[in-house]
Amino acid sequence: MADVHMGETETFTFQAEINQLLSLIINTFYSNKEIFLRELISNASDALDKIRFESLTDKSKLDSQPELFIRIVPDKVNKTLSIIDSGIGMTKADLVNNLGTIARSGTKEFMEALLAGSDVSMIGQFGVGFYSAYLVADRVVVTTKHNDDERYVWESQAGGSFTVRRDVDGEPLGRGTKVTLYLKEDQLEYLEERRLKELVKKHSEFISYPIYLWTEKTTEKEISDDEDEEIKKEEGGDVEEVDEEKEKSTKKKKKKIKEVSHEWELINKQKPIWLRKPEEVTKEEYAAFYKSLTNDWEEHLAVKHFSVEGQFEFKAILFVPKRSPFDLFDMRKKMNNIKLYVRRVFIMDNCEELIPEYLGFVKGVVDSDDLPLNISRETLQQNKILKVIRKNLVKKCIEMFNEIAENKEDYKKFYEAFSKNLKLGIHEDSQNRAKLADLLRYYSTKSGDEMTSLTDYVTRMEGQKDIYYITGERKKAVENSPFLGKLKKKGYEVLFMIDAIDEYVVGQLKEYDGKKLVSATKEGLTLEDDSEEEKRKREEKKKSFDSLCKVIKDILGDGVEKVVVSGRIVDSPCCVVTGEYGWTANMERIMKAQALRDNSMSSYMSSKKTMEINPDNGIMEELRKRAEVDKNDKSVKDLVMLLYETALLTSGFSLDEPSTFAARIHRMLRLGLSIDENVSGGDGDDADMPPLEEEGNEESMMEEVD
Ligand code: ADP
Repeated sequence: MADVHMGETETFTFQAEINQLLSLIINTFYSNKEIFLRELISNASDALDKIRFESLTDKSKLDSQPELFIRIVPDKVNKTLSIIDSGIGMTKADLVNNLGTIARSGTKEFMEALLAGSDVSMIGQFGVGFYSAYLVADRVVVTTKHNDDERYVWESQAGGSFTVRRDVDGEPLGRGTKVTLYLKEDQLEYLEERRLKELVKKHSEFISYPIYLWTEKTTEKEISDDEDEEIKKEEGGDVEEVDEEKEKSTKKKKKKIKEVSHEWELINKQKPIWLRKPEEVTKEEYAAFYKSLTNDWEEHLAVKHFSVEGQFEFKAILFVPKRSPFDLFDMRKKMNNIKLYVRRVFIMDNCEELIPEYLGFVKGVVDSDDLPLNISRETLQQNKILKVIRKNLVKKCIEMFNEIAENKEDYKKFYEAFSKNLKLGIHEDSQNRAKLADLLRYYSTKSGDEMTSLTDYVTRMEGQKDIYYITGERKKAVENSPFLGKLKKKGYEVLFMIDAIDEYVVGQLKEYDGKKLVSATKEGLTLEDDSEEEKRKREEKKKSFDSLCKVIKDILGDGVEKVVVSGRIVDSPCCVVTGEYGWTANMERIMKAQALRDNSMSSYMSSKKTMEINPDNGIMEELRKRAEVDKNDKSVKDLVMLLYETALLTSGFSLDEPSTFAARIHRMLRLGLSIDENVSGGDGDDADMPPLEEEGNEESMMEEVD
């Protein structure tokens, strides 16, 4: 920020990203330029909300200008369009910070969205709506007066800098802001009354302050030459036609005089839409209201309009957007999109007590009849009425989601955008956990291309006591997991939980519809075997592998908690599972990726690994034989390490030392290719590891691995 003092006028450079944004707005062709007006009116409305809120606790704040309004003034002579509000105004510091030197978090995101082909009308969502003024103007002047400061003027023709100066000789403003746009030559349509009215109707109809347009009225006076008679005419659309006819018939007798007068015309309907009966509001009206409320350029996906009566009364309209906002899970910014009104008076947005965080994507308004007007953020927290409202809002949200679920296409959209929120809800909202679980959808071993609900899963359960799931990173990875062998063979359905947050979901959910949720990858997964005979055989086989389990445990040391014979793997030689209460491989991956994890917790939770070996697998059988002959056999040691590391990978864990693993594989490859280690001079890593012995036998083992 380089300041250049030029008398009273200070020059500032735009922050780099804002400057880029301005060039993009000015130099790119956008067909949807008209949205600038919506953005400026929306800023005016926000500024009015702010002063009204302040005035609830201190009436004198309105003294500088008691009336709250928005005014639009087209000036055809000077080719300017001004938007004036009697809102909170800006101090000099606000002007410098808000309009040029401090970039909002959305600036960069918006540019990226634009460059990726998004519509410029998204601008409001990214918190940089003001700059849309440059879609239609090449010079913008902002005059503003805040209660705590003098009147200042901000001015810029873009081009890298703006100026701020004290306004000593301009018109007084009382309080508020006047944004004057010097329109580009090809944008003069925005001086036309009809166009301006149309735009306010289209984009700003539900602004809850009066919007006045400075309109020009032409009154025609006709003076008859002979009789000197005055005829006054009514204003109206067909004035001109009437004039022409009159002119023809009375050409010689009368002359007309045009009288131009100006007046403020109220151009927005003000009755709040939520006060109307739901059956009387059209879908288009909801859409228009939604857009004006949210700055969204698309319509809503779903709406719920209701009133609650009884001990406490309130009205509300809730919307679900079609997409998630770009910063849905930005932790610095708490999402909350419910505006709170008390008896029609706007109190505040972002009222955290109104709706839980996981429903932060739901937008709308709540109008309470019972809350006190002078309620402050501090007293809100203790407020009983608010708790009742909150409970009802959550209930209605869930109802609304269920309504969306009645349409497959819509629900797919909804789920793509907000499934993480539902899952967060399951984690956080114990009261509504069961209802939220109904809304979950997962791919499964039987779901094909569509996701299945838990309800549908349960109806498909045959001879199956529990609900099985597997967590992992990708569908492809879990689909072919060694853990599914036995379950698939038995025809049991397994849900694929491939969202990081699913780990938290199952951590809280534990059961659905009375059926336990069981992880296919956790220790202790027992499946009822078919016959007694089979069970007996298995027991016998298991015993014969007891000593190998001990040998493996000795080799792996702290790498595993224990080594057991598995009842669930079919093809693979072994797998690594986690204890019932420890983290799954997927969770370990997630926690490792999280910067803020608690390290003591992590070593405790991640240390509980169990290696399960498959007694029917040829490799294991061979290992068992060798270990029986000599448990200190070095090849056994090396192979166990390789099997363990490979099992970690196929079971979804990551390796702490991938290069050691690679070196082991390379050595096996050289063996397989009969390359003499000493001659080829391979990996330096080799030196750190004991050499493989009994090479001939290793080769035969390799074939089995292949
Ligand atoms: P947003 O309105 O989404 O925050 P803008 O780029 O439109 O982003 O405006 C930036 C900031 O400038 C606003 O947050 C507000 O503090 C200030 N501002 C803009 N217009 C006005 C106005 N008419 N009155 C008071 N402050 C305003």
